[in-house]
Amino acid sequence: MVRERVKQMVCVEGWEPQEQMEYAIEAKKDAVYYIRVDESQNEYYWAREAESNIFGWIPVKCMKGNKKYANVESEIPVRDAYNSFDEAFDFPDFSKSNNWMSKCLTKEMYIKLRDRATPNGYTIDEAIQTGVDNPAHPYIMTVGATAGDEETYEVFKELFDPMIAGRHNGYPADFVQPTCLDHTQLNHDGFDEKYVLSSRVRTGRSIRGLCMPPYCNRAERRKVEEIVSSMSANLGEYHEDLAGHYEKLSEMTEERHEELINKHLMFDKPVSPLLRSGGMARDWPDARGVHLGDNETFIIWANEEDHVRIVSMQKDGNMKDVFERFCVACNGMETELKKRGYEYMHNEHLGYVLACPSNLGTGIRAGVHAKIPLLSQHPKFEEILINLRLQKRGVGGVDTAAEGGIFDLSNLDRLGFSEVQLVQFVCDGVDKIVELEKALEAEEDISDRIPEAIQTPW
Ligand code: ADP
Ligand code: MG
Repeated sequence: MVRERVKQMVCVEGWEPQEQMEYAIEAKKDAVYYIRVDESQNEYYWAREAESNIFGWIPVKCMKGNKKYANVESEIPVRDAYNSFDEAFDFPDFSKSNNWMSKCLTKEMYIKLRDRATPNGYTIDEAIQTGVDNPAHPYIMTVGATAGDEETYEVFKELFDPMIAGRHNGYPADFVQPTCLDHTQLNHDGFDEKYVLSSRVRTGRSIRGLCMPPYCNRAERRKVEEIVSSMSANLGEYHEDLAGHYEKLSEMTEERHEELINKHLMFDKPVSPLLRSGGMARDWPDARGVHLGDNETFIIWANEEDHVRIVSMQKDGNMKDVFERFCVACNGMETELKKRGYEYMHNEHLGYVLACPSNLGTGIRAGVHAKIPLLSQHPKFEEILINLRLQKRGVGGVDTAAEGGIFDLSNLDRLGFSEVQLVQFVCDGVDKIVELEKALEAEEDISDRIPEAIQTPW
């Protein structure tokens, strides 16, 4: 079946994104319409049914570009099974599920969304696969859905908006995401290194016009790698710690890969069921790799969960240095990307657009490995973390349990606060945690020293 056929589209030169345009369409009234044009230039427009019930000429938002196209035809076929079987019969079994997707996706919503697709053809079934296959995670509350392309968040808004609000502390659908990558605004004198063993800040970035790791094809993935590896040689111009070289995973020996994993410099094989079900293990190890800073304090991962992951880290408690290197890198990479005719996926409401809704906004995870054997056993530990907006993980990464009282403590939020604010939460929060750990060492009662909850900005 062909769901929709765009007969003609007109986009006038000079129009800004978000401005309305009109096109003639032959399709049924309740459909959502998509257009795909001029793939050779990576330019496309997408169209969504307007609020109004006008049928025929339908106003749509112009997302990108300002070129002139006319008489464009496009067909997005959907699989036969979507016609042969009732949507309700296809609805996943959520009886054992505990992730945001399963909480938000109602049968009615699924019925509405099942035969939609993004301009690249990403469907709701693809978006929710990771959450269907992984009903509950042992250590964290996962989102349970992935984006395949930039438009996923808009096309499946009915599901993604409530999931985003659930995961991000009620983030409102009209909030403007602040961004601040000015490292001089961070106030901190360093962590107590008796407790804090290492500090790290990472983010992800997606390159506009290329599908994300859950859905990209091999060529798109290779294009990302080509861009990252070509930038690699220039990064030293921005900060001496960024200078390094690119290593392709497919050319690494098993031993070299292990060595880098053990140094926390390289991502693991896609053993995580979250990644596998999310489509991110496809074609492994093709087009994956790492830019390794010479000092091993800066890395860029190509094609792990996101097109790029930018990581600044060092084996001490100096978060200020880590954050400075991080900010310089994010900004420098943006400059390099633009030189190559690309840009990051970004919009005002969602900030930086990434493959997992948990990372939208800043994409920042600023964290430390902290030794807190006493506080982590305290009955109020969870409450303290939530009040400080911190998340705990094991030191081997998100799928590992903590051992020996050493935890990865990082900001819980990525959206609603700026980069500087979130890193500041981690600095202040971890200082507070260390203070409470010391109090417990001195056998003091901490029950009246539980920090107050950080309020949301809305
Ligand atoms: P992320 O999604 O932020 O990259 P993961 O939990 O997937 O984090 O872990 C990725 C890798 O980064 C793992 O090897 C983990 O041990 C390492 N890592 C995370 N935080 C720190 C830290 N503060 N210091 C050193 N290594 C870290
Ligand atoms: Mg990860």
